[in-house]
Amino acid sequence: MDKITSSISHSSESVRFNKKRSRGGDGNHRPNKKLGVNKLDPVNTVSYVQILGNGMDTQDTSPSVLLFFDKQRFIFNVGEGFQRFCIEHKIKLSKIDHIFLSRVCSETAGGLPGVLLTQSSIGDVGKVKVWGPADLDFFIVAMKYFIPNAATGHFFPFGRRHESYGDAISVSRKFDEPHVLIDDGVVKISAIVLQPSQLDTALNETKSANLSVIYICELQGIKRKFDPKKAASLGLKPGPKYDLLQRGKSVMSDCKDIMVHPMDVLGPSVPAPIVLIMDCPTLLHLQELLSVQSLNRYYADTAGNEPQISKNVNCIIHLSPRHITNTSDYQILMSKFGAAQHIMAGNEMKNIEMPILKASARMQARLNYLCPQLFPAPGFWSLKCMPSGLKASNEDLTSRINETIPAENLLKFHLRPYTNLGLDKSGIPKLTSPSTIIDELLSDIPKILDESQNLNQLWLGNGEKIFVQANGVMTEELSLHDSALPGCLEDVSRDDLEIVFLGTGSSQPSKYRNVSSIFINLFSKGSLLLDCGEGTLGQLKRRFGIEGADEAVRCLRCIWISHIHADHHTGLARILALRTNLLKGIPHDPLIVIGPVQLKGYLDAYQRLEDLDMLFLDCEYTKEASLKAFNSNEDGYTNSLEGQHSDFMMSDGRGRMQSCSKRQRIPVQYADAVPILKSLKKVLVEAGLETLISVPVEHCEPAFGVVLKAANRINRVGKTIPGWKLVYSGDTRPCTELKHASCGATVLIHEATFEDSLSKEAEEKKHSTIKEAVEAGNSSGVYRLILTHFSQRYPKIPKCDGKIQMHNMCIAFDNMSVNLADLPVLPKVVPSLELLFGDERITEDVIDA
Ligand SMILES: [Zn+2]
Ligand SMILES: [Zn+2]
Repeated sequence: MDKITSSISHSSESVRFNKKRSRGGDGNHRPNKKLGVNKLDPVNTVSYVQILGNGMDTQDTSPSVLLFFDKQRFIFNVGEGFQRFCIEHKIKLSKIDHIFLSRVCSETAGGLPGVLLTQSSIGDVGKVKVWGPADLDFFIVAMKYFIPNAATGHFFPFGRRHESYGDAISVSRKFDEPHVLIDDGVVKISAIVLQPSQLDTALNETKSANLSVIYICELQGIKRKFDPKKAASLGLKPGPKYDLLQRGKSVMSDCKDIMVHPMDVLGPSVPAPIVLIMDCPTLLHLQELLSVQSLNRYYADTAGNEPQISKNVNCIIHLSPRHITNTSDYQILMSKFGAAQHIMAGNEMKNIEMPILKASARMQARLNYLCPQLFPAPGFWSLKCMPSGLKASNEDLTSRINETIPAENLLKFHLRPYTNLGLDKSGIPKLTSPSTIIDELLSDIPKILDESQNLNQLWLGNGEKIFVQANGVMTEELSLHDSALPGCLEDVSRDDLEIVFLGTGSSQPSKYRNVSSIFINLFSKGSLLLDCGEGTLGQLKRRFGIEGADEAVRCLRCIWISHIHADHHTGLARILALRTNLLKGIPHDPLIVIGPVQLKGYLDAYQRLEDLDMLFLDCEYTKEASLKAFNSNEDGYTNSLEGQHSDFMMSDGRGRMQSCSKRQRIPVQYADAVPILKSLKKVLVEAGLETLISVPVEHCEPAFGVVLKAANRINRVGKTIPGWKLVYSGDTRPCTELKHASCGATVLIHEATFEDSLSKEAEEKKHSTIKEAVEAGNSSGVYRLILTHFSQRYPKIPKCDGKIQMHNMCIAFDNMSVNLADLPVLPKVVPSLELLFGDERITEDVIDA
């Protein structure tokens, strides 16, 4: 009875299906029949759909929709931050059986690599079945560059078979019947693929991400219950007549001279609820949607439909954006579904004051109270300055005609038991005001009031020597006991450099720490990203607010990626796709992305799905020796390099990556890199930077750290002030290359994945302990050391050995924003942070990768 219809078009991947899981079996081997009765009793089963992750910090990402059954979980769309959301709301990834994508792009599938990696780290490779329109194939090909077993995952692309990836989309054909994907006795899930027949040639929108899907989820009908007592009272004896009655036939009573009709002996019928999940991203898709014949049977009062053929849709979740749902065509379509409840879940300006990650929002508020200079108020609590028009009301045009409700985080629509059918808002989180959080904090740790005031004094200069005036100009050297103020901090202003830590955890996102990303804010001179883990865009929103995050993305000059581990780059596609969108119609250059060579393979493959508008430069070309050669003779660069590095592992110059596993070494098209190096040089000059140098470090192969050096500047009295030097280690063991590169740095941002007692793990996994990171900083004579990339086993604050000298060190937290002018006081904040987290240094069992 359980089956996956084979009418889908498979990719070349091996697609095996685990039937036991599809039934919701839990590993104990009961016979099917019993399973059906005891475990999947449709009358008593609980089932609902629920909106996951609709809030300010996900406003650019499709929310996920959970279709819940006692024994099965189906997820529609896994945008970035999905895992983190699940951790926060205690949703177990291991319980998810199927993931469906309504489109294949960073908005809807940005969280998929993370989910697959986490599953494989717990030994569940291929457990989740991933369904999506045919261009899912492209995504699989791209993911293989950093997920070794992506090929063995269970992917089920459907809708369109293409002969080769390079082919343009064949002319759309009508799919008259939906593709039945799952039909397991509990629910039938089918899909209608929307493929616009006319592509927008003006925008050259030939990306196959043009496919979008309408999912139809039909719960199975429930047999009416036969009442033997009633049958007996009507003079019926057990036998074949029971069966006839259950099949809707009337029979003659055995003992009485009466006809017995089914309605006399059967309980009330329980309708089978139907939910639609609709994603119609553009007007072209809408044209297609309006012509889909197979939806007719779900319309409430289509003339000519037999009542028994027409099916009642109970709830429709619209992922379509508002500019589509507001069109009269869409409105009319909505009204055809009769009394269905419409949930509007398009990624609009809804619930913008509501952070979806409440625990980290609470922590941000506490940190902001303690030290607002390093922890500015999070973006969602600074909406006062939001331009009018953004606070769009939830009452839309849509509500005029149809029964609509805006999707809110954790909003439910119950499907079963039938008595509960309908909306349930009880789970929607309430907005906690920052003042409530602070009251709580003050009663938890009364000492924090004094601590906060003391820290404030540091910035105001009372009780210490004045070093930052109200206008933000540092005028006098701080009397800290350590080294003297470095030259670059002389006459420093607050609009020179700000280092914003967007993600400070290792391996996978956790409740309080997202994965690696550092935003280098150069203010009027633009910005850079160093690493870009999943959820980087969400973190930008948490830090800068909605508009601020867009502005940050728009002003990016360059993105630098240290190595191919997923915690350092899976947020890249989302950022690049958003930037492409934001700059549509505005003259601009493609963004330079500098990274390890495997990243090029991934990005090239990915660009078949979405336009990323970028130029890729291998980190190898930004190593010191390569740059020297380039600078000494820009024109002769090709020749000079050819001799030096003839054995790079690299692209074949036609956008294809050579297989890494084969270790095939081929000559490189150096000439390709020269124009990008020239662009980079220009970009750096505009950003006020003298150099960007990639430093090979000891982690995976290849892995890099980076050195950024600002150009010298002239101060008010005409004196030349040296530029600051910032070094970021990426992931690494302590190593000599980085040590040399860090020499005399103004700031060294060093990974410190493990506590000192875990030095063996650090060695095995090629990371550093806190002690090793501190030693690295000391031996290079850096002015300030900031530790980051903490194992997620330290949820809030890492375990520091008490003996570590803290005089020049600080610990990074998500959204900590370190202004160049604040570097002198930075180490003084550490004891206050320790007070704030007090005994919260509980460790958790996690896997570090
Ligand atoms: Zn890492
Ligand atoms: Zn790594």
